[in-house]
Amino acid sequence: MTPLAMMICAAIVVSTALGVYLRLRQMATVTCNRHATPRDFAKEVTLEEHRRAADYTLARTRFSIFETVYDGILSLLWLLFWLAPLCNIIAQVTAPGLNRSVALFVAFVALAELLAMPLSLADTFWLEARFGFNRQSLPSFLADWLKAGALQLAIGAPLLYAMFALLRAAPDYWWLCAFVGFMAFIVAMMAVYPTFIAPLFNKFSPLPEDDLRQRLEALLQKCGFESRGLYVMDASTRSARGNAYFTGFGKAKRIVLFDTLLAKHTPEEIESILAHELGHFKFGHIRQMLAMAAALAFVGFAALHWALGPQGLSVVFSLPADPGLALIIAVLAKDPLMHILSPLIAWRSRRAEFEADDFAKRMVGKEPMIAALTRLTRDNLATLTPDRLYALFYYSHPPVPVRVAHLRGEA
Ligand SMILES: [Zn+2]
Repeated sequence: MTPLAMMICAAIVVSTALGVYLRLRQMATVTCNRHATPRDFAKEVTLEEHRRAADYTLARTRFSIFETVYDGILSLLWLLFWLAPLCNIIAQVTAPGLNRSVALFVAFVALAELLAMPLSLADTFWLEARFGFNRQSLPSFLADWLKAGALQLAIGAPLLYAMFALLRAAPDYWWLCAFVGFMAFIVAMMAVYPTFIAPLFNKFSPLPEDDLRQRLEALLQKCGFESRGLYVMDASTRSARGNAYFTGFGKAKRIVLFDTLLAKHTPEEIESILAHELGHFKFGHIRQMLAMAAALAFVGFAALHWALGPQGLSVVFSLPADPGLALIIAVLAKDPLMHILSPLIAWRSRRAEFEADDFAKRMVGKEPMIAALTRLTRDNLATLTPDRLYALFYYSHPPVPVRVAHLRGEA
């Protein structure tokens, strides 16, 4: 094995160990605080609810330890044992060239999806079901899985062909063109996703005309947002969890409220949740996230320029030189790198959440936002006592006690 191949395998082992360590810390902190609801929440969250949230967090984290180890082992198995036979099989059915490269990558993704399937099933039908969240049936789960796979293939295969063709035509500059093409694709997807792709999985209907809508429209006007963009999604067909999100830009931008959210929250709380989402819009958070993605993609494609080249990753792992194969190795090798970067990305995202909370506070006051956050946490069985280091790595939103303290001006 070459030194670089050894380093990549070692990085996967270290990253898996770090993932397990952080999850063990999270479990220890949650267990330690299971006996009492944090003082600030004692009125709204009963001890029984607090303990149930702890039990759910513990079960979910334990499951995620298994998942982390499973993924780490699979990555190593692919790199060290499975890629060579996969390559042989594909070589028997395809001639060298574009077709073979694309077939290799598609076969890898399909097998990886199949191997991830048992965990995904256990997550939905065992873990989520045990705590009363799952509303999905097995046929609808499988239909989602097939639909997502078909979509991935329909969009991904032509992109792979384009990328490998570019690589052959312009070996020195292909990655710059691919980067520009990739960013154009991402922007196009952001415009297309809310209107054309998300509806393949869920029903979106305009918010019904009632007092709530009038109230929300008044808020939209105050913030300069077109009211066409307000939708309700039938999230309750899959899960009992409540949520809301802001998506797209330009004419395609919309704010999506889960029907589960509308069912459980007071109008004041929903108004504050909408105000928070509008905060993301006001501060241009989608554009900022896009800029960060662009920076990461630029570095990623520059690395691919080397990785897919003649002395690239296939050679590093002593496998036949094929850009499809090299791309698979690159995908496997990027995970430990992204893991190390995750605190940075999560930190940027948490800062955006604070800004959106501040905006909501200015628009509708802090009390409804605090009430909404407390209820969301309670109903989604989120823990109020996460481990700090764990949260630093994995929390895209600040822990709710921190958000509430921030809204109250205490932090
Ligand atoms: Zn947010």
